[in-house]
Amino acid sequence: MERRQLLKAAIGSAAGLALGAPFLRAQAPAETVKLADDLFIIKVPGEANVIAQTDAEGALLVDGGSAAGSDALLKAVGALPNGSKVHTLFNTHWHPEQTGSNERLAKTGTTIIAHENTRLWLGQNVTWPWDGKKVMKLPKAAQPTKTFYDKGTLPSGIRYGWIADAAHTDGDLYVFFPKQNVLAVGDAAYGQGWPVVDWWTGGWIGGIVGGLQRLQTVADKDTKIIPARGPALTLDDLRTQVDMYGTIYDRLNQMMNRGRGPSEAVEAKPTKEFDAKMGNGDVFVRRCAESLWAYLSPDA
Ligand SMILES: [Zn+2]
Repeated sequence: MERRQLLKAAIGSAAGLALGAPFLRAQAPAETVKLADDLFIIKVPGEANVIAQTDAEGALLVDGGSAAGSDALLKAVGALPNGSKVHTLFNTHWHPEQTGSNERLAKTGTTIIAHENTRLWLGQNVTWPWDGKKVMKLPKAAQPTKTFYDKGTLPSGIRYGWIADAAHTDGDLYVFFPKQNVLAVGDAAYGQGWPVVDWWTGGWIGGIVGGLQRLQTVADKDTKIIPARGPALTLDDLRTQVDMYGTIYDRLNQMMNRGRGPSEAVEAKPTKEFDAKMGNGDVFVRRCAESLWAYLSPDA
């Protein structure tokens, strides 16, 4: 009996190894969601959303996923009509989840468009104080080739602009496709869960509220708003989010004005009535409170 059990366990683990290894190595394929005949969301499992628009010249991408997901992403883009040549890439902000295809696409002559602040962050090493994670700068050849400060329009009519409020970083941009009425917003609005507030590179809770208000002026009631994370949003969703983040911002502001620090802010549970829908808000609140310290104390 004992021996049989032992044998069974041994066979089980051997089979597990034999079967498990290839599954671990294989990358799940990307899913392509059609928004219009020439506009798609490419979803590589575990990666941020990427938008691909195709025309006679090739493909335009809004964000390029992480370096690890780049193969799967570009394979899916290559399967689109005229998708084998990516002529334009937008970086909605500098984070590695968005800029991981810069290096290889730059080599193929892709024009990389970003806000000037994004280019500046990509040109230096960044260490986040909350987790000590260090992100290395991109080589010069992988940095954005066309930067702007305020807004711009491509010959195709696609419009883009700076979300100056700094919802997520100080270089956030949106890209608006007027023909399809689709608005790409990167991490300036989240489709699910509490957002990351990267105050180290400029984001703050007041910017989340301001950014959502600004995006409302670009969208109308029929606009499909595509965030980097989660499902599509509508104008109504943005309004609901403004109310929620506005409430949290007011609460945190009052606490900061009374001299309360980030840990006290977390204890006060300023997100309590939203947590059932959004998930535990502790990390978000701590980051928001830190963002207020960073924003309101110029010497900090
Ligand atoms: Zn981000």
